Amino acid sequence: MRLAYAHNGGRPFIALALPSSQGGGGRPAADGNWLNWSLCMRENAARFTWLAACPDPTLVDWLRNTPEPVASLKESLAYLTDTGCLEKYIVQGDLRLKAPIPNPTKIVALGRNYAAHAAEFGNVVPEEPIYFAKAPSSIIGPDEAIVYPSYVKRLDPEIELAFVIGRRARAVPEEHAMAMVAGYTVLNDVTARDMQKAAQGKGCPWFASKSLDTFCPMGPHLVLTDEVSDPHALEMTLRVNGEVRQHATTGDLVVKIPQLITYISRQMTLEPGDVIATGTPEGIGPVQRGDVLQCDISQVGTLRNPVL
Ligand code: MG
Repeated sequence: MRLAYAHNGGRPFIALALPSSQGGGGRPAADGNWLNWSLCMRENAARFTWLAACPDPTLVDWLRNTPEPVASLKESLAYLTDTGCLEKYIVQGDLRLKAPIPNPTKIVALGRNYAAHAAEFGNVVPEEPIYFAKAPSSIIGPDEAIVYPSYVKRLDPEIELAFVIGRRARAVPEEHAMAMVAGYTVLNDVTARDMQKAAQGKGCPWFASKSLDTFCPMGPHLVLTDEVSDPHALEMTLRVNGEVRQHATTGDLVVKIPQLITYISRQMTLEPGDVIATGTPEGIGPVQRGDVLQCDISQVGTLRNPVL
């Protein structure tokens, strides 16, 4: 199953791709394949009592209140089908997608988690994971512009598989770690490389170079775990103006998702909706204003953003 945060001219709402068993095909579309899930929850408030305290939820709010996302959606869809109410929630008109996770408590991003990428910058794979924060204020959605500030000399995109936490995780052992994952999305870890290098040279944090406004495109959807057969066997491709720059598989991740969750959650609590970007593969290079960036990850989706 996959969800989006979107609008069709008015206020944004949570949208649910209609599963193929209900006639939708589960594909991204603006042709009536989506249900307005926010409206559905509001009109069935007895089943979603948490909405009383949170009447206009984002997907972060939904995750906080939905510990078993796939099971909960399946049960709700069965109820709506049985009662003949499903069709009234089908979205009419064009659906404009926003970032699926607009307000996480944090974005944790891995550095040097693909050996070939570490090597292309003359680095070795660290003995322990290196991670840093990206500011949630840097998030933008599909087709929104990445703004190239006049004071930045080199701007690099980085395609990354991001996973989204579904339940609060603190010091989680590896064998339970995957149960903390709600789903996946595509994330472009846009970087002001000259700022990062200057900061590194002074022994300062990378935070600013990774967190400028618009430097965290993500989307197009939140794809729940039932639709991703193996998150460590996904093909990822970054294209700039149609030309392939990065092409790799998540099978080459040095530290895999369960180990990352165990490592990070020993140090800080991961909250529902938190986004962890797993690192980028080799093929890093600068882009220019006017370029169009396209990040494809199999089973997860395509994220496209122009550079302004
Ligand atoms: Mg990165």
